[in-house]
Amino acid sequence: MKNLVLLGSTGSIGTNTLRLATDFPDRFRVVGLTAGSNSDKLLAQIRRFRPRCVALADAAAAERLRRRCGRQPDLRNLEIEILSGTEGLVRVATLEEADLVVSAIVGSAGLLPTFAAIGAKKTIALANKEPLVMAGSILQQEAQRQGITLLPVDSEHSAIFQSMSGQRRRDVRRLILTASGGPLLDLPIGKRRTIKPAQALKHPTWRMGSKISIDSATLMNKGLEVIEARWLFDIPPDRIDVVIHRQSIVHSMVEYLDGSVIAQMGVPDMRGPLGYALNYPERLPLGLPSLELTKVKALTFEPPDLKKFPCLGYAYEAIKIGGSLPAVLNAANEVAVRAYLEDRIGFLEIARLIRKTMDAHVPQAVKSLEDVLEADRWGREKAAKAVKEDGR
Ligand code: NAD
Ligand code: MG
Repeated sequence: MKNLVLLGSTGSIGTNTLRLATDFPDRFRVVGLTAGSNSDKLLAQIRRFRPRCVALADAAAAERLRRRCGRQPDLRNLEIEILSGTEGLVRVATLEEADLVVSAIVGSAGLLPTFAAIGAKKTIALANKEPLVMAGSILQQEAQRQGITLLPVDSEHSAIFQSMSGQRRRDVRRLILTASGGPLLDLPIGKRRTIKPAQALKHPTWRMGSKISIDSATLMNKGLEVIEARWLFDIPPDRIDVVIHRQSIVHSMVEYLDGSVIAQMGVPDMRGPLGYALNYPERLPLGLPSLELTKVKALTFEPPDLKKFPCLGYAYEAIKIGGSLPAVLNAANEVAVRAYLEDRIGFLEIARLIRKTMDAHVPQAVKSLEDVLEADRWGREKAAKAVKEDGR
């Protein structure tokens, strides 16, 4: 039996994880949950999983949850701690009885809780890629110091991890990340300007939270994943390639020195990579449908068009230059995606704002978490100013 803490339990990865906890009650016990502000959904999860400790980032939402728990006859006597703010998230991330922490908050808000969980020697199932983008070297150093592994949940990284199993790291020549291309792949550049969030959110093969869905439409998600792969597998970015693979069947590949390429395939369902991370190294009988290749018929691969998807190029640039630049790229992207979702800027402005913010930045070395947080703050401020200047 593994004791699970789930950071970001009300999101897309969070609910998929709880589905696995429901399907395998003899393997996983949920001891801690956290969310941003959705106290209703968290209350329903408390009722179902009875964790010992929960936290909401939003203090008012946590207070609401406390009051509501106090009023419910079935919850009144439950010994549950309800915490709030970053401190609360960190406390849940480091619960003594937790064996494994699923890191599934979206964005930079996951950095401090994930770092704290590593510091507390918890095994990490990592979905929240932004902290690795911001502070990959620092998180990996801490993981090595604590002797723990970061198990990838992102489907591409899980595929690479699985394709490397039993192989020597030094025999790897190249990583090949696949990208579905998102909902706007075939839309000509001229028509991208007027794309509304509702269209950009319609991912062809995956159902995900809104931020990562927009990142998939700009291909920034793939850029963030290149940086994520750089840190998870210690491979320099010039040996990480991206190919467009519309069917989302080949989840990624590893090429070895002898020219051999090992790929991992499966139907696109996040319970696959999640289950692998949660129960590593054993596989779970997930009950997913078999991959019927005769029905899929063709698997296609195309190079990405960097003119259509400049964000992918920006991410390569950021990781090649390094230092504080990846954190600034990430901060600008978070600000731009939010502004786009709130209809304050157009679709093409997302890339433009990131470019503008990166151009204004003088990259610094990052030696500590404080340095990373400073770069994050700087990037957010600069990008927010650009939204005001250039937005509607
Ligand atoms: P989501 O938006 O569906 O869920 C995000 C979760 O984080 C929610 O529980 C929300 O309450 C919480 N949260 C949001 N803001 C917060 C804050 N400021 N403080 C604390 N908690 C906060 O997102 P998602 O699609 O589940 O993605 C989560 C992470 O996993 C992202 O980093 C994403 O890139 C990565 N990921 C997701 C998928 C997927 O299929 N959804 C696949 C691969 C990687
Ligand atoms: Mg992915």
